[in-house]
Amino acid sequence: MLIDLSEILSTEGQVKDYDVISELKEFSFNGNVYVVDNVKDFHLTARNEGKRKASLKGDCVVTLKMLCDRCLDEITEDFEVDIDEMIDMAIFETDKVDEIEELDYLEDHIINMDMLLQKELMTLVPMQILCKDDCKGLCKVCGANLNHETCDCDDFVPDPRLSVFANILKG
Ligand SMILES: [Zn+2]
Ligand SMILES: [Zn+2]
Repeated sequence: MLIDLSEILSTEGQVKDYDVISELKEFSFNGNVYVVDNVKDFHLTARNEGKRKASLKGDCVVTLKMLCDRCLDEITEDFEVDIDEMIDMAIFETDKVDEIEELDYLEDHIINMDMLLQKELMTLVPMQILCKDDCKGLCKVCGANLNHETCDCDDFVPDPRLSVFANILKG
């Protein structure tokens, strides 16, 4: 969904509410692809905050489908996204490259809501994703999911550094 901010940015005291319907289906981050299961419809308030400045505020809940890093089970998790952005068009006349790059959801006064949501989600998604804190993971030998089943594999993995000493002792 695109929101045109031209009027807000140019009209002092202007406030507008938008019903946001997101079409965000997935996004990639840190080499992972996150599947968006659902974005609850929400309100976004855009407010003129002075000369060519506008604030964006809104809360929404995004449900992501993710794979547990340890056992690869699929989990769904809700993330509460708190949008609180200040847009200052003057920044485009400076050479603050970092800040301009952060505003890649904004182009010619038009906000790309899906890109803004992505940016917010990147700060919320944890580095390690676990189905539960004590996830037992997969058996290294047979691949069984140890949360759901047990196996009889000997999961002792000899340390390759120790085998050097074993060979010396043998010799
Ligand atoms: Zn797990
Ligand atoms: Zn096993």
